[in-house]
Formats: sequence, structure tokens, C-alpha cells
Amino acid sequence: MNRIYLSPPEVGAEERRMLLEAFDSNWIAPLGPDVDAFEREFAERIDIGHAVALSSGTAALHLALLLVGVGPGDEVLVPSFTFVATANAVCYLGARPVFVDCSSSTWNIDPELVAAELEDRARHGRLPRAVVTVDLYGQTAEYDPLLALCEKYGIPLVEDAAEALGSTYRGKAAGRFGAAGVFSFNGNKIITTSGGGMLVTSSAELAERARYLATQARDPFPHYEHSAIGFNYRLSNLLAAVGRAQLRGLDSRIVRRRRINRSYRAALGHLPGISFMPIADYGEPNYWLTCILIDPDEFGVDREVVRIALEARNIESRPTWKPLHLQPVFADSAVVGGSVSASIFDQGLCLPSGSALGNADLERIVDIIREQ
Ligand SMILES: *Cc1c(COP(=O)(O)O)cnc(C)c1O
Repeated sequence: MNRIYLSPPEVGAEERRMLLEAFDSNWIAPLGPDVDAFEREFAERIDIGHAVALSSGTAALHLALLLVGVGPGDEVLVPSFTFVATANAVCYLGARPVFVDCSSSTWNIDPELVAAELEDRARHGRLPRAVVTVDLYGQTAEYDPLLALCEKYGIPLVEDAAEALGSTYRGKAAGRFGAAGVFSFNGNKIITTSGGGMLVTSSAELAERARYLATQARDPFPHYEHSAIGFNYRLSNLLAAVGRAQLRGLDSRIVRRRRINRSYRAALGHLPGISFMPIADYGEPNYWLTCILIDPDEFGVDREVVRIALEARNIESRPTWKPLHLQPVFADSAVVGGSVSASIFDQGLCLPSGSALGNADLERIVDIIREQ
């Protein structure tokens, strides 16, 4: 049996055609018309002024934080329940993440904990330099209260929408809620360029600065002239061609992932001890990954037994993110709350959710879980 992956890339004839077209046009490196077009089409898709194509989502996070003013010694509020890249980018700048627990009703950063933390810090004159939100597993954070808080205290928000391309919050696209938004096109995201990222913003100035810093901060002279420390963070033109083709298929991918999510719910939702990541009524996720909680007392076996049973049939599933405040590398970091994400990690399992997952494979997965 072929291995079933959690969220493998899905590419087809259109990706191949556009990649070869870019190749044959001789725009191999590094920038070119496909990068420009990808940025334009991407900005249009999420209805924002500017998009800057970068080599990874992590690079986009790094630049976004730098551009909102995060620097050495600063503190930045970051959700604990996320992929490590969110916090790593804070550390690249010599700043420190302060982890905030998630809400059990959205699995995203808890606005009430953010409110309490900011209030306390304002009283002691220790406000963080920035707040980072993550739109987890394709569901956006709860932006109304979060934006009101950031505005109240004058703190910029950076939105890590790496997992949430195509998701909406109150009808508005993920990525549009901060001073800058960040997307990833790595191999397991909803669209992929094999590797890549995008920084989006409504500020022309911020976008221009991002492009400048991403191309080694080259000043406009015939020779190489530099007045800032830059990075080599741009996306290759060949990969941008793949991204353009992928973007055209985004809506059908969301439809397929939603259908997969509904099938899992229909097949497993009634089982004692199994529950799903809640879908908040404030938006529409892109259903990047379907995640369940397995309560061992009610279900009979725990998450690991299910994961290993799937693995024995060559099916990849994965525990939900291990909260960053529990990671050895962040053992000394501050954390606000923490028990909610810790308990989700105890019981959480991400199920195969790729847009190319067929119904027969889906049934097989469901049967294996039911047999436990
Ligand atoms: C994937 C991901 C990233 C990193 O993106 P890369 O393109 O792999 O660098 C950052 N944050 C979150 C939440 C992610 O899921």
C-alpha cells in the first residue's frame, strides 16, 4: 500500500506547464515576470495592496517582525500553540517570545489572556513590542478583540497566516489583520511552491522596505552600495510560476479539504471520546488539517495507540503542535496560562487531510480509527 501522508503536495499539468514556460523563457534566477505576477495575483486574491514573494514563511515572519520594529531585548506576545517557526523568528531578532495559551473554543490565542497580560504590563511599563497571532490549522484568530487591544495599547500586530490561505474572518481574508501578514508555501501547506512564502501588507512603504531587505539591502547605485543589513530572502522566478498555478486551484482545494473534514466528522463525530477542533462561528476556515481530540477514558485507548495503528498501515498522522512553552528550547521563556494547549497536545491528533486524498483511503482511515 502506498503511504498516505498528512498533507502532501498536489501538483498537476498546469504547474508543469507554467514551470516549463518560466524555464524556457530563461527567467531562471532570481526575480522575473512570474514573481511580479504571483505577487499581483496573490494580493488580488486576498484583497490587499501589496504582496512580497519570499523564500519561506519563516523568512516572511522574520522580515515582518523586523519591519514593525522588533529588536534586541524586546518582548513579543506569541501563541504557545503553534509551529516553532513563529517563535524562532522572534528569536532571530534578539527578542524574547512571551507565550500565551489558546482558547479551548478556537485553539487560537486567547483574547482574554492577551487582555489581562497587556493590562498588567501597561501598569508596569513593560508593554511588548508586538503581538503575533497565528491562524491555526486554517482557522483565524478572533480579530475583533485582539485588534481592539493592540490599538488600545499602540502595539503592532503581525499575523502568521501560514496555514490559513483562503480562510476568512467575518468575510475578510486571513492575512489582512495585522500591519503585516505572512503565508507559507512549503510542501505541506494548502498550496505549495515546494518552498516559499509571502509577506502581505496594506502599506506601500512597508512592502518596499521588505523587498529591499530581502534582496541584500542593495541601494540604488550602479555598484554595490549598502546602508542596511539585508537578507537573501526572495522567491525564485521558477517557483513563483508553480505558485501561480497552485493559486488558481486554491478554491477547489478548500472545497475538497472541507469535504474531507465533513466526512471525518460524519464518520467519527458520534464516537464516545472523539471530538473535533471547534469551528468558530466568526469565520470560514480553509480546513488545512482536520484535527481530533481522543479522550482515552471514554474512547478506550489514547491518541498514541491510534497514531501507531495508522502508522502500522503506512498512514501518517501526527500529534497536534506541542506547545512552545513545553519545548526544551523555550524552557526559560515566560508563559501566560498554558494548560489548555497542554491538554490539547495530550489528546490531539492531526489526520490525513490532503486535497488529493481519495474517498477509499478516507474510509480506510476511518475504519482503522473505529476498530481501536
Ligand atoms: C509552516 C508554518 C510556518 C513556516 O513556514 P515555512 O515556509 O515552512 O518557513 C510558520 N508558521 C506556521 C504557523 C506554519 O504552519
